[in-house]
Amino acid sequence: MMRIALLGATGSIGASTLDVVARHPQAFRASVLSAHQNVDGLVELCRTFRPDLAVIADPALEGELVRKLRAANVESRVLAGPGGLVEAAAGNHADSVVAAIVGAAGLESTLAAARSGKRLLLANKESVVMAGGLLKAALDEGGGELLPVDSEHNAVFQCLPGGRPDLREAGVRRIILTASGGPFRGRQRADLVDVTPDMACAHPKWSMGRKISVDSATLMNKGLEVIEAHFLFAAAASEIDVVVHPQSIVHSLVEYRDGSVLAQLGNPDMRTAIAYALAWPGRIDAGVSALDLIATARLDFEAVDRDTFRCLDLAYQALASGGTAPATLNAANEEAVAAFLAGQLPFLSIATVIEESLARVPSTSIDTLAGLLDSDLTARREAQRIIAGLVT
Ligand code: NAD
Ligand code: MG
Repeated sequence: MMRIALLGATGSIGASTLDVVARHPQAFRASVLSAHQNVDGLVELCRTFRPDLAVIADPALEGELVRKLRAANVESRVLAGPGGLVEAAAGNHADSVVAAIVGAAGLESTLAAARSGKRLLLANKESVVMAGGLLKAALDEGGGELLPVDSEHNAVFQCLPGGRPDLREAGVRRIILTASGGPFRGRQRADLVDVTPDMACAHPKWSMGRKISVDSATLMNKGLEVIEAHFLFAAAASEIDVVVHPQSIVHSLVEYRDGSVLAQLGNPDMRTAIAYALAWPGRIDAGVSALDLIATARLDFEAVDRDTFRCLDLAYQALASGGTAPATLNAANEEAVAAFLAGQLPFLSIATVIEESLARVPSTSIDTLAGLLDSDLTARREAQRIIAGLVT
């Protein structure tokens, strides 16, 4: 029986993970569940899954959670605040951690899980983008394994021999990440001036949280994934390409020196990647319907329109700069996306905020978590100033 700490249980990845876990009650148990502020959602999940530990990230809601769990006759212990998340990730409450918090808020618990030597099922790509080097050091220290949940990296992992080999020794020429193109594929900049948050979140193929949905619409999601691939597979930026594939059936590909290209295919459903990461090196039922190739009929591929979707090149630029530049890119993106979702910032200005932030915040090397958090804060303040300048 594998005990699972699911951080970000009330989100989209959280729901998909619990769906897979519930299909295998003999193999998996959700022993820890966490949420940010959604007390009622967390209580509901605790009624069903009876975890040992329930964690609410907003400490002001601890009392309410305790009260509502008792009223529901659930005996889970309660922890609260960022420290509670770290304890849940690092402590002896679970064997594996699913890192499914969105954004930089997931960084410290992700690092704590890595350092503890547990199996880390990583969905929280922002933590790799911010702190790839620190995460690698934490994994080396803990001796556990990282299984990528992001569908592209899960696909690459499946297409590499032994999961994460030295790319040159394995004869890999390129990693090719596929992008659906998001809801605005085919549009020009002039078409995107007035798009609303709801339009940006109406993804044609994937149902996801709102932040990653906006990232998919700007293609920053693919930019973050390029940086994620760089760290997870020790691939140079020049070895990582992106191709638009609107059907979202091919989840990514690995091209080898001899001309072979291996791809992982499947219906666009995160339960496949989650089930793979949970059961690795085995395979289990994920509740995902079989891929019908005849019904799919076509697999299209096209180049990214880099003039309209500028965020992808900004991510390559941050990767080339190195040091804290990817963390600055991430911080500026989180601030800009939040402002866009709040109806304050136009869609096209998201890229402007990121570009300006990268230009204004000097990149330094990352040595410690404290230093990184400090530079994350600096980048957020700068992005806020740029946003304020753009909206007045
Ligand atoms: P979501 O918004 O649906 O859920 C986010 C979860 O994080 C919720 O449980 C929420 O309570 C928690 N959370 C939010 N802010 C928090 C904070 N400050 N402190 C603690 N917890 C907080 O997001 P999602 O779509 O499930 O995405 C989660 C992560 O997985 C993201 O990093 C995303 O990029 C990545 N991811 C998601 C998908 C997908 O299909 N949804 C695919 C690939 C990768
Ligand atoms: Mg992805």
